Amino acid sequence: MKRRLFLIVVLLFLQGCSSVPALWGAKPFPAEKLSSLFEATPTFTPTAVASSTPSPTAVATATPSPTATATTFFVAPTFAFTPTPAPSLASIKRVIIVSFDGLRADAVEAAPMVNLIGMMKTGAYSLTAQTINYAVMLSAHASMLSGMCQSKHGVDWDVPAYYKGYSKGVDIFDLAHAAGLKTVMIVNKEKMRQLAEPATTDVYQLVYGVEAAIMRTAIEQIPLGFNLMFIHFGSPDTRGHKYGWMSGSQFQALRDGDATLGVLLAALDQYGIRDSTLIIVTADHGGHERGHVGTVIQDLLIPWVAYGPGIQPKQLTSPVSVMDTAATAAFALGLSLPREWDGYPVYEAFGLPVAAQHDKDLKICK
Ligand SMILES: [Zn+2]
Repeated sequence: MKRRLFLIVVLLFLQGCSSVPALWGAKPFPAEKLSSLFEATPTFTPTAVASSTPSPTAVATATPSPTATATTFFVAPTFAFTPTPAPSLASIKRVIIVSFDGLRADAVEAAPMVNLIGMMKTGAYSLTAQTINYAVMLSAHASMLSGMCQSKHGVDWDVPAYYKGYSKGVDIFDLAHAAGLKTVMIVNKEKMRQLAEPATTDVYQLVYGVEAAIMRTAIEQIPLGFNLMFIHFGSPDTRGHKYGWMSGSQFQALRDGDATLGVLLAALDQYGIRDSTLIIVTADHGGHERGHVGTVIQDLLIPWVAYGPGIQPKQLTSPVSVMDTAATAAFALGLSLPREWDGYPVYEAFGLPVAAQHDKDLKICK
């Protein structure tokens, strides 16, 4: 009897033992432990936030491989430090530069360019930005896109002159393309081909049509993907030469171009990329009467508007040069600035400490 009882006890014990591993699968997970699992979820949230907080890795992934830039270019030694990008700045995946040919600063309100004014209200802007002293289309655009004075990029002509080659030195297209970023140029004048070598512009389209056609061509590139896009509107300059700067005809051209800015913003919304796209709107030069050779300040004063992630809504107090356009685009894309560039990123637009800026009088290229 005692022996049978002993066997039963042993059997029960063994059954108990064999059921031990089954505890994890068969028995429901204790409620308090389940809730602790859910409570654990928030610990992932800070990680996600932390990854969007600027860290060298976060910036590096948004941009070129470090080897592509670090070995080729140098950060200008005048930069006392590298500002830590704000989270929203780190989310910039692409930059669009829009140039209104011949848009002088005070024409923005006079036209009026209502979309651009709206972008100024929620963006950072200057209406006292200046172009280079030789205020002509090709030379000034070369400075805008190369970040350099004319003496360095060498574009001292303003007509198609292909035997003269291309803008010299490292421009923003060189920089972005070398880093594996996709570059696009949509232009309205043939001579602009000389601003960047064909090998560095993945897409180059010359559109002779009106502003809406130019913007339509640009927007067609959005679903194909890009990191740097330059869009050029030529009509304000053409109308200025024909009918005069600040004429009704020029204002109409400016309003036509301005209307397409609204179309661009709607397209960015449609593709869900407005919050990762920095837009810079500026000009190559201003003008007066029927020309713009740089003899009066109205030829030199241009608007400079930055709109997008990380941009602080404000009127800029630091002096802005047309050459800062390339530098700001490079900075936003996480690219190291070539040492020879004369432009600086407009740090103030991002609410960052101004590490380096021009003299008040913007006499950079003399
Ligand atoms: Zn002109």
